[in-house]
Amino acid sequence: MKVTLSQPRGFCAGVVRAIEIVEQALEIYGAPIYVLHEIVHNQHVVQDLKQRGVIFTEDLGSIPSGSVTIFSAHGVSTTIVESAKNTSLHIIDATCPLVTKVHLQAQKYHRQGDELIIIGHAGHPEVEGTRGRVNGMVHVIESIEEAETIAVKDPERLAYVTQTTLSIDDTRGVVDALKRRFPKIHGPELDDICYATQNRQNAVREMSKEIDILLVVGARNSSNSNRLREVGEQNGVTAYLIQDSQDLDSIWFTPQSRVGITAGASTPEVLVQEVLNKLRSYGVDEVRDLDGVQESINFRLPATLLRAKLKQQAIDSANK
Ligand code: SF4
Repeated sequence: MKVTLSQPRGFCAGVVRAIEIVEQALEIYGAPIYVLHEIVHNQHVVQDLKQRGVIFTEDLGSIPSGSVTIFSAHGVSTTIVESAKNTSLHIIDATCPLVTKVHLQAQKYHRQGDELIIIGHAGHPEVEGTRGRVNGMVHVIESIEEAETIAVKDPERLAYVTQTTLSIDDTRGVVDALKRRFPKIHGPELDDICYATQNRQNAVREMSKEIDILLVVGARNSSNSNRLREVGEQNGVTAYLIQDSQDLDSIWFTPQSRVGITAGASTPEVLVQEVLNKLRSYGVDEVRDLDGVQESINFRLPATLLRAKLKQQAIDSANK
């Protein structure tokens, strides 16, 4: 059996930043720290933080007044931000800067008087956060069929934005369908789809030319991991989304199998290595890394956290 490791794979800059925000908050303020929604869509990351004193909740109302509260990388609505302020929560925002960019774009279109269409998955926290940043009519669609049937108030004043973690190919089809029906619609082409999503999908497309089976290590509720599995299937390989090595099944493989492994943007590399180790026990005679984009993007931590850290360091050195 031959194994190819996709490059790039796993953690993106937004996820690295979100996890670092929680870790630094634990260090500065101590447990408990509250996080609204899963900080990133990965149970292993969430479980590890829970053990260190982080309380994850879907309900802002359950957080005691004054508590340190972190918004997840997916972003939140304006209503959530205001409710958090009204209950005197100490907010640290871990929304990925690329999601914030989509929020600002959506708000700009709304201010210009456009009716907004979000291309994305209704119910996904990122889409709900973006929808909730606009105080007006917002449609959410995800397919060409929906683009062909959506009813709008004024076809002359329409704009769209997209979720950051969609399939590049599928989204192009939806945007084209919208443009055919509403020639005046405007939006950022595919610029909303983030660099990490694009790079991971491109790598899977490339790798699919030389593999028969694709393993995507990622959470079942992770949008970008699901899209990676679809990209593999669309490129003719049998693709499985697995949470970790325990989901592997030896009957999927033969000694001749050419297996590719990738990982969603919220998947720690340790899970990929565990999957590789289990495959080795099935008999692997070659492991190689795909040549691919080396990512060097970093996002700054929020100013509130950086200020708190400096203050803490000053107190610590005064107490020495
Ligand atoms: S997948 Fe993209 S948008 Fe989402 S956290 Fe990572 S970098 Fe940000």
